[in-house]
Amino acid sequence: MKPAPFSYVRAANRADAFRLLAAAGPDAKVIAGGQSLLASLAFRLSQPPMLVDIGGVAEFKGVVAERGVLRIGALTTHRELATSPLVATHAPLLRMAAHHIAHPAIRNRGTIGGSLAYADPAAELPACVIALDATIVVVGAAGERRVAARSFFAGLFATALADNEMIAAIEVSSRDATGRLATLHEVARRSGDYAMAGVALTAAVTGGALSAPRAVFFGLGDTAVLATHTSAALDGARDATAALSHLTKDLSPPADQHGSAAMKLHLAGVVLKRAVADILAQG
Ligand code: FAD
Repeated sequence: MKPAPFSYVRAANRADAFRLLAAAGPDAKVIAGGQSLLASLAFRLSQPPMLVDIGGVAEFKGVVAERGVLRIGALTTHRELATSPLVATHAPLLRMAAHHIAHPAIRNRGTIGGSLAYADPAAELPACVIALDATIVVVGAAGERRVAARSFFAGLFATALADNEMIAAIEVSSRDATGRLATLHEVARRSGDYAMAGVALTAAVTGGALSAPRAVFFGLGDTAVLATHTSAALDGARDATAALSHLTKDLSPPADQHGSAAMKLHLAGVVLKRAVADILAQG
């Protein structure tokens, strides 16, 4: 299938992007890397009359570490997440995640802002930003607001973004400032496929036990799921055994093309055990 006809304009900067969006009306969409949007246009799941390309907006680019905070511009590509020394030092979880996203051609164009705005429940980065307790910096015509990542994802492919708001950047406390370790494990049919089940886990490790862990599952619900009961059961644990029985309090995965709900819950336990063993080994 081919997309429905649409117009296209490229914004010169942030102010220009807002001007173009306002002129185009409420059904216009911004396009960043195009790696999700173009597929949904091709399937006619979305038929915006106008695309506003934000790929040239300098205000949404760059990775900067300052005073214990890593600020990642929304246009940072998955490839840049995978290769940036600043990301590797201050937020290695995002580096790990980028290696699991699709294939090199998609990683070269797809952006962190696009992934978060698209809010695919099987995507890695929404789970990572919740596990890192990151802040999403959102800009609208009226100015900037900051949204905690755990409050940003509102449902299946839905976020806290209002009409004509854009993600400008993501801010993460540096690993050096928090002293927290992180890991990500997933099961996918083939390397580069969306995960059937995955978990991003952050925690401090003290005396061989987890402290204040945050386990966030993906591919197992309508959104990335911060597993509060399972995370509480992992606090002080030296393995995942006791926490496994809490998974059903946090997760109620729908059966899908990958398998039954019971199989997906089983996979949640598998990835959790691997993540806990991995993070304890790092400590
Ligand atoms: P676009 O496609 O340009 O936009 C996506 C949506 O976000 C649109 O609605 C757009 O309006 C909006 N948007 C974009 N930027 C902003 C912004 N700054 N502010 C507000 N709204 C914005 N992803 C994974 O996580 N894991 C995978 O395993 C994976 N596999 C893939 C396999 C294939 C074959 C393909 C085609 C894609 C895959 N993806 C996967 C998706 C990929 O990561 C996309 O790059 C990402 O989801 C969207 O980023 P983008 O910059 O391309 O966004």
